[in-house]
Amino acid sequence: SKFSGRATWTIFDPEAADDDMSGQNLVDLLKTARTEDLVSTAYQPIRDLPSGRTVGYETLMRLHDFDGSLISPQVFIPEAERSGAIVELGYWAIERAIRDMKRLDPQATVSVNVSGVQLRAPGFPLRVTEIVSREGMPASQLALEITEGMDIFLEPQALKAVEELRSFGLQIWLDDFGTGYAGLACLREYEFDLIKIDKGFLQDSQSEVGLLMLEDMIGLVHHRGIRVLVEGVETANQLRILENLGVDLVQGYLVGRPASVEKHLSRAHETDAL
Ligand code: C2E
Ligand code: CA
Ligand code: CA
Ligand code: CA
Repeated sequence: SKFSGRATWTIFDPEAADDDMSGQNLVDLLKTARTEDLVSTAYQPIRDLPSGRTVGYETLMRLHDFDGSLISPQVFIPEAERSGAIVELGYWAIERAIRDMKRLDPQATVSVNVSGVQLRAPGFPLRVTEIVSREGMPASQLALEITEGMDIFLEPQALKAVEELRSFGLQIWLDDFGTGYAGLACLREYEFDLIKIDKGFLQDSQSEVGLLMLEDMIGLVHHRGIRVLVEGVETANQLRILENLGVDLVQGYLVGRPASVEKHLSRAHETDAL
């Protein structure tokens, strides 16, 4: 991407983001995003506990305005879903993530976020499996993150797509666990490879009740034999709490911020030189 050298590229700062963009401008921008090279991907490390090693990366989409400023995913993702642009952007992001991972960390698992609009798109499982096969990545190294808020568990067609992708060998992760209405029901309906607990629960673990809640959620997931990842780890104290609770994986600013593949690679070189 032509923006990869920009300082604004690596860290998404919601305060600095251009959120005042009108709906039509955004729709137009999304239409040309690919051809104009306005879309890019950032990768946030996923750390294994207790080994402390980076074992994966989450792919986070970034959209730039023509002036180079970033548009918040909270703004452009819903619009891309409404307009349907997310479907093609999503295929592009999967291909991009697989290619970037070959350069960054060929053993790592890479996850991509997938919205309901994408799962409902005709031929979605076929397109995804074609990309994975063409790029030659082992299917088990790609994970699809599906958010709990999504009502796919009530939609047989969308659920069928998920099952097709899982039988191809992809990992299926449940994102934002604890925030949606599906809750326990979706844990019963579907066997996930990993569950991501929303950062809100970590923030609430300051209080005694919040900590018990987090402990219960982790116990619930582990009881089903599923690995747990907690998002939004920002302090050493939070990390200690999660280690004590037996969390399998963590993600957050403490461990690493989302960054371009170029940024990650240049940091790795800095470390090598020390
Ligand atoms: P998400 O999937 O829950 O992604 C995690 C969000 O938390 C990211 O925001 C990430 O930058 C942020 N984050 C990571 N560590 C920390 C931390 O320690 N503290 C705090 N406060 N935040 C942290 P981002 O990049 O703005 O993405 C927002 C949402 O946009 C994502 O939430 C996801 O639902 C959606 N999204 C992003 N990329 C894609 C994509 O390629 N496709 C789809 N369908 N959705 C995407
Ligand atoms: Ca603007
Ligand atoms: Ca996610
Ligand atoms: Ca999440």
